[in-house]
Amino acid sequence: MSVTPVDPTQPYDSDNIFAKILRGEIPSTRVYEDEWAVAFEDIAPVAPIHVLVVPRGAYVSWDDFSQNAPAQEVAGYVKAIGNVARQLGLVEDGYRLINNIGPDGGQIVPHLHVHLLGGRTMGPMLT
Ligand code: C5P
Repeated sequence: MSVTPVDPTQPYDSDNIFAKILRGEIPSTRVYEDEWAVAFEDIAPVAPIHVLVVPRGAYVSWDDFSQNAPAQEVAGYVKAIGNVARQLGLVEDGYRLINNIGPDGGQIVPHLHVHLLGGRTMGPMLT
């Protein structure tokens, strides 16, 4: 996988790796899917539970998504993230959501995604 940082203003590249995963062209271990989003296990987990929640729509960044997605799609994605946490049994113990955007955010894959980490107590803050 390329580790070139994502330019968050770039046009959406429909050949990015998560687009291929969404289309089923690349295998992934799916843990959840609905009309708006798909969640699958990260291939390099940093916690006992580490899944990526990916909107089905073609968005590079949070700016792209928040400015361009219809409100119904924004709501659907946010609800899907909550549904994933609930389905994984994390509501009581808690979990961490991370959304890397652009070069300063450390984004590598140019399709909007949220990391959902759980199954252990997280450190006090990210670096
Ligand atoms: O930094 P960014 O949030 O873009 O990180 C992308 C994530 O996608 C990494 O945690 C990486 O392990 C994950 N990944 C994956 N499956 C792939 C390619 C990347 O889970 N095929």
